[in-house]
Amino acid sequence: MDEFELIKKYFHNEQNQSFGKCRNIILGIGDDAAVFEIENNRQLVSSVDTLVENVHFPADVCAKDIAYKALAVNLSDLAAMGASPHSFTLSLTLPSINENWLADFSAGLFALANQHQLLLLGGDTSKGPLSISIQINGTVKKNQFLRRSAAQAGDKIFVSGYLGLAALGLQQWQQASKKTTAAQARFLRPQARIEFAEGLYQCGVRCCIDISDGLLSELHHLSRASVLSLSLHSDKLLLHSDLRALDTQQSMELMLAGGDDYELCFSVAAENQDKVLHLAQTRNLALSCVGEFFSEAQPCVHLESRQPLVIHKNGYKHF
Ligand code: ADP
Ligand code: MG
Repeated sequence: MDEFELIKKYFHNEQNQSFGKCRNIILGIGDDAAVFEIENNRQLVSSVDTLVENVHFPADVCAKDIAYKALAVNLSDLAAMGASPHSFTLSLTLPSINENWLADFSAGLFALANQHQLLLLGGDTSKGPLSISIQINGTVKKNQFLRRSAAQAGDKIFVSGYLGLAALGLQQWQQASKKTTAAQARFLRPQARIEFAEGLYQCGVRCCIDISDGLLSELHHLSRASVLSLSLHSDKLLLHSDLRALDTQQSMELMLAGGDDYELCFSVAAENQDKVLHLAQTRNLALSCVGEFFSEAQPCVHLESRQPLVIHKNGYKHF
């Protein structure tokens, strides 16, 4: 099998390609590049993320989960922007052609892509150490996107879901590679908060980030970008039942700096917080108000907690 047969067999998914019409695609897979039209009065939101074996996932994770995760982390970037999924391209580097692996990879990929009517537009396939790059496209109504720099003094800070679960899942995976605990499942299959994020702008939210490296790290990004200080009341974070067995120091480290959560952290004016809480309820999503933004001469992140905490890192860093 050569790379062209491989692309046709594993990446030309019929259901997926059928989304081409509703996405205004003029040229998709098969030419040197894709051509598509964007609806009137909407803007294109584009992002790329790479997953490298033994950096982003252990080598014994199955192909279905690798594909799911590669797409989910990209969807999470669209969620952070408040964008609706449109299409994506896939750059795949494989050590060899293993058809069982490819069939699983393709199944995991299209399970999630088709759920979001996300069309595969093209990509690249080459030989080398396993790595998966996905470039994703989303759209927003003109200028109705969320950003890191839009927090206002007085805004309340919210976090979706339960943090630390994925980081715990990775620890559990390293002890026994199974998919049996909620934490392991969350590590392997992050849940991008797309449907929730699509409603945030209408609720008055302007500032948002997704939590990929760890909450503290993301809060520093928001503080820096918005040129504001913020306080984080760590006791307000929701504690998942799987983290209750750990002592406070351990569970706080996972929740504040574990990373891989792919939840959202955003801010909203106090008078709009009820709208946001209602939206979360309709999406069946747990939400906690964990702090607020305020002005200070030297913008920084103030970590507050009932028990004294020593957090050694803010989150994951590659270098
Ligand atoms: P080129 O040599 O012009 O870069 P390629 O031979 O890499 O073209 O790819 C042929 C076609 O297949 C292109 O349309 C490309 O977008 C598509 N393609 C390549 N790899 C993938 C992949 N992993 N998934 C989806 N489409 C792919
Ligand atoms: Mg190419």
